[in-house]
Amino acid sequence: VAGAPDIDDLAARARAVIPSGTSRSTLYVPPAVPMARSGRSAWLTDESGSRVLDFNNNYTSLIHGHHFEPIQRAIAEALDEGTSFGLPTRREVALAEHLRDRTGHEQWRFSNSGTEAVMQAIRCARAVTGRDLIVRFEGSYHGTSDPVTDSDRPGITCAEHETVMVLPQGSLAALQTVFGDRGDDVAAVLIDLMPNRAGLEPADPEFINAVRQLTTRHGSLMIVDEVITFRLALNGLGPSYGIAPDLATFGKVIGGGLPVGALAGRTDIMSAFDAKTGPLVAWGGTFSANPLTMAAGLAAVQAYDQPAIDDLNSRGNQLRHCLSDAGVKVNGRGSLMRIMEKVDVSDLWWALYRRGVFAGTNALLSLSTAMTHEDLNLAADAIVDAVQAVRS
Ligand code: PMP
Repeated sequence: VAGAPDIDDLAARARAVIPSGTSRSTLYVPPAVPMARSGRSAWLTDESGSRVLDFNNNYTSLIHGHHFEPIQRAIAEALDEGTSFGLPTRREVALAEHLRDRTGHEQWRFSNSGTEAVMQAIRCARAVTGRDLIVRFEGSYHGTSDPVTDSDRPGITCAEHETVMVLPQGSLAALQTVFGDRGDDVAAVLIDLMPNRAGLEPADPEFINAVRQLTTRHGSLMIVDEVITFRLALNGLGPSYGIAPDLATFGKVIGGGLPVGALAGRTDIMSAFDAKTGPLVAWGGTFSANPLTMAAGLAAVQAYDQPAIDDLNSRGNQLRHCLSDAGVKVNGRGSLMRIMEKVDVSDLWWALYRRGVFAGTNALLSLSTAMTHEDLNLAADAIVDAVQAVRS
């Protein structure tokens, strides 16, 4: 590639100045992942000039792939007016209105990451209920704030143990025991309905109903983390379980590829952030709801309407069935899937990458609307081949 840097030199420079060579610990695959140069539609080109089909999509956030014209245009228009202001903008209102109409959640607040959205959800639940205890589930990833990081990780204080209980995902017995013993201490149950790190297995509806009933009975809030799952339906995955959470967190696709997070819920709960009513939970953020993100996000979600969602989910289901038929163990739903083979995950990642399929570091695959049937056929063959190579 003309003008390409020396890859080894670039990697060495990265390691010298950035621990692990990247600002995201989640991107590590030994010896080090390639560096991205550019993306167009469903394809990513790395700094050594290799082109790969992007099934990573920046960890599921690039719902339309790269360089999607309506998003490019929306960002350019917003950019022309200015990158950020110390005042709210009409773009923030427009995205909040779109998401309200689409999901039914009455009020919205935006942040720059899903991490912050979850952090605020927890804080809001504690403020509204006057309780401290948060219940969450093993293996579910909710970002990197302290209450949702396992307490055995360095830098997390023992105090975190006391106000957070981590239960096995799907264990009705454990849930009933906690509510039986300490139900009236529980501020909120935080749950992802199809947790990626725990294996991308859709949650059992009976369990989700139990969460809803127990939280309601004990005056605790139910927080559904839709940061990844929102893409699966027009209004997120929660409604397909027939439940209405008290709060929901969002991120990824609603930012159109720019940094984003959002917390949404009923007005009576979200009023915790209302200066006129209080209890006024702290929420700032110099770049929260910045107009570029709001513009990109609105363009992304407007183009991701019901027909687009149905089409993408059915293509995802087809790919998953095709992989299963070829003997590959794969979990997921619609446009999200994860290869669950019992093989070395780093070996699998490289085997996929070398065959032109760029997955998440834990073999998470997400589709984008930019993928053609030809792309998906190519990918299916490459994935089957990669899995077989790593198994042997
Ligand atoms: N919740 C879930 C379910 C997620 O998957 C993620 C990110 N992968 C987060 C929260 C955190 O979002 P962010 O990386 O934007 O902070």
